[in-house]
Amino acid sequence: MTDTPPPAYAGPARVLSGVQPTGALHLGNYLGALVKFTRLQHQMETFIFVADLHAITQWQDPARLKGQVREIAAAYLASGLDPKVATIFPQSAVPAHAELAWVFNCVARLGWLDRMTQFKDKAGKHKERESVGLYTYPVLQAADILLYRATHVPVGEDQRQHLELTRDIAAKFNHDFGVPGFFPLPEAVVEGPGARVMSLRDGAAKMSKSDPSEYSRINLTDDADAIAQKIRKARTDPEPLPDTLEALAARPEAQNLVAIYAALDGRTSAEVLAEYAGQGFGVFKPRLADLAVAKLGPVGEAMRRYMSDPVEIDRILAAGAERARQVGAPVLAEVKAAVGYWAG
Ligand code: ATP
Repeated sequence: MTDTPPPAYAGPARVLSGVQPTGALHLGNYLGALVKFTRLQHQMETFIFVADLHAITQWQDPARLKGQVREIAAAYLASGLDPKVATIFPQSAVPAHAELAWVFNCVARLGWLDRMTQFKDKAGKHKERESVGLYTYPVLQAADILLYRATHVPVGEDQRQHLELTRDIAAKFNHDFGVPGFFPLPEAVVEGPGARVMSLRDGAAKMSKSDPSEYSRINLTDDADAIAQKIRKARTDPEPLPDTLEALAARPEAQNLVAIYAALDGRTSAEVLAEYAGQGFGVFKPRLADLAVAKLGPVGEAMRRYMSDPVEIDRILAAGAERARQVGAPVLAEVKAAVGYWAG
């Protein structure tokens, strides 16, 4: 006898994702997340938020946080998100995220969270000194996604494990509260050569906002000189580029620069190698710098333009928050009823 699988979620396809306002956005955020948001907004209903609840899991200067939220919103708009098409909002303006996260804290198992590698990476050797919020960060992330019953989550490779946890939480909630198909089991949209952009200092760590070295990343607000200088200084070896992906894989720094070129140019790494195999970095780096300046320069300029009008950014964020609250409210109400809250 075989078990009949529970009925699958039957609602519409929806996209949800977000970025933390923890500092200047970099090329990894752009290729791993922002470019995909912009593409997907025309395919499915799209919700993109600024994750200020997530940001405070590690210390943020309260005097700067609001400005950082606006900066992320400006980056969204500059990379092509259209507030008439996508719902763009700050997480803290929709209290239902935190309310749903509490329910999910009671659904998720400690053993599941103990396996999360991002917590281990961020906490390093002294995990007992980190906030409890950093530990339960992926549970809040599950609430962000499932509050809107999102089915597709465009993220970088680093978030894949958190998405698996979201699926586990959704399945356990549906099962435990006897509501099969209530939440979808969302899919991570992770693909292409920009899914894991590595640090320019060493091809082993991911490019990150919180890396103390400015030369590890290219920021969206860097000017042409800074972009060219960072690419020039990126760590590489003296060998020419190889002609196979297998040979490239043995050289992580080279592989990273080729992947960045491919992602910026809308090509595959194999296509880039076909053009540059046999060439040294003396040739490749200036070409990469020209491409990066051509693609990122207009984004940085548009960001500065949006940032010069914070009133307009706040208007967009407030309108987005209103819409997000409307979509999330009935889902949270059903969750409360399913759980059996007095106020449900
Ligand atoms: P922090 O260093 O503060 O943790 P971060 O740079 O890792 O920040 P997040 O705000 O955690 O950025 O991530 C925002 C989005 O950007 C996520 O979808 C994440 O997967 C994606 N992303 C982050 N870093 C990279 C990277 N190096 N390559 C590709 N995608 C990335």
